[in-house]
Amino acid sequence: MSEHEEKMVNSRNFIEMAIDKDLEEGVYDHVCTRFPPEPNGYLHIGHAKSILLNYGLAQKYNGTFHMRFDDTNPTKEKDEFVESIKKDIQWLGADWKDHLYFASDYFERMYECAVLLIRKGKAYVCDLTPEEIREYRGTLTEPGKNSPYRDRSVEENLELFEKMRAGEFEDGSKVLRAKIDMASPNINMRDPIIYRIAHLHHHRSGDKWCIYPMYDFAHPLEDAFEGITHSICTLEFEDHRPLYDWVVRECEFKNPPRQIEFAKLYLTNIVTGKRYIKKLVDQNIVDGWDDPRLVSIAALRRRGFTPESIKMFIELCGVSKSNSSTDYAMLEYCLREDLKLKKARMLAVLDPVKVVIDNYPEGVSEELEIENNKENPELGKRKVTFSRELYIEREDFMIDPPRKYFRMFPGNEVRLMNAYFVRCNSYDTDENGNVVCIHCTYDPASRGGESPDGRKVKGTIHWVNAADAVKTTVRLYENLIDEEKGVYNKEDGSLNLNPNSLTVCENCMVEPALAKAAAGDSFQFVRNGFFVADIKDSKEGKPVFNRIVSLKSSFKLPK
Ligand code: ATP
Ligand code: MG
Repeated sequence: MSEHEEKMVNSRNFIEMAIDKDLEEGVYDHVCTRFPPEPNGYLHIGHAKSILLNYGLAQKYNGTFHMRFDDTNPTKEKDEFVESIKKDIQWLGADWKDHLYFASDYFERMYECAVLLIRKGKAYVCDLTPEEIREYRGTLTEPGKNSPYRDRSVEENLELFEKMRAGEFEDGSKVLRAKIDMASPNINMRDPIIYRIAHLHHHRSGDKWCIYPMYDFAHPLEDAFEGITHSICTLEFEDHRPLYDWVVRECEFKNPPRQIEFAKLYLTNIVTGKRYIKKLVDQNIVDGWDDPRLVSIAALRRRGFTPESIKMFIELCGVSKSNSSTDYAMLEYCLREDLKLKKARMLAVLDPVKVVIDNYPEGVSEELEIENNKENPELGKRKVTFSRELYIEREDFMIDPPRKYFRMFPGNEVRLMNAYFVRCNSYDTDENGNVVCIHCTYDPASRGGESPDGRKVKGTIHWVNAADAVKTTVRLYENLIDEEKGVYNKEDGSLNLNPNSLTVCENCMVEPALAKAAAGDSFQFVRNGFFVADIKDSKEGKPVFNRIVSLKSSFKLPK
């Protein structure tokens, strides 16, 4: 085995090791995984982990990946979510080919499985009220007690279950329960409910059904019907695994799937819960489910994240059996890594102040050729214009600078990036003392920003040409949550919001090429970070830019 191969083998995670063992022992001769969202909301970064994990395993083992909508609970499910989920998964690059399934298409087969259980004496119709069922269930320390309906005959159960299906009973008046063990130390095994009556309209099956299977019964069956081999789910289902195994065994599947659990992805100080996001949306605190400050997949896409950066992040996180929380800075790190060689470095001034080069001829403009990305020559070059009046960042000029300030101040010489050395001579202020214009002289011999005689300048600042710069709106973001306080208010459980999570800069001046950006195009703005033309608010010839991420990073990759 080569060193590299050895490394590959050693770096297998616990799920891969379990799969390897199953294949070796002939439990399965192939791998089939699935992603089974409930279409009741938008997907978020946590779901991306599950998608990429399941899809990645199918690819690694030359297996099959199924996309399945787990739509067995008609109350919250909507077609709108089916479409948004499909779009998000495609964007992430997980290709289900022709393996698209809906759990609701299995209702008839699930019903047949329930009938099989009844025939085997493994399920019964129970008339206890929901409160009584809870009472009879017992607690963690006390066993439950048998329902008085537990010993109904097979015939009676078959008849009642058929009548349940036919709509002869009211919601909540009866349920079908698995007959397992009311004394089991695992509460999930104490005769769990497997069917309930609910006269509800379903987004796909319409009014055909008035009984619906419970998750713990439906999910293993869905997996088994599709020939899933490894049903990968999150840790909270660990205690449900004995029930999962019971269902596929008692329903007599030849080569039943196997459940493996891993820890959910959590991000520190980030809200992912649907309930909270819905509140933020309803109260107009955010601009919909795809507000760039959120971490739904739709929001990440709008913010300018790339599928590659999300993949890299998920790989770095790895899979584990214990819950932990990951720093958002790691996600930003992956994003910078992905974008830094791919994106052109453009000139944009977010908080402009005017500069006049007094010794530069009036009415003249010249073209300078600059590299799009010094670290990646493949991105080529472009031309920008230079003339007597420019804009620079307000923070790049100080009247009275502290020591070690190397940018522009009266008497100091700096480099205008890729253009010329300029020396500041004076400045004009308005009646309030704000600087409105800075006067400089340039050295014509320093064209391209090269020193003409070996003299050095310490500061290099970026600029745009006032003659052709385009005024543009740019949005800057911070965490929606006040990180000092943490996500939840200890007193009332509300969210601790950061009042500065959104800053809208209306007067940014950008080079003309940026004004032509199409919605979704992204760039580096020199010194200010990576930006994307918003896909919702940009209009042709009038983009609105979102800051994807700044250039500064406090994150270091762990060794
Ligand atoms: P939420 O309530 O956060 O939206 P959910 O579990 O209700 O999550 P489902 O549609 O039921 O959402 O989940 C689809 C799949 O995504 C499940 O297999 C689930 O285990 C997985 N999943 C959900 N949240 C995470 C997470 N934070 N990290 C990893 N996987 C997750
Ligand atoms: Mg759910």
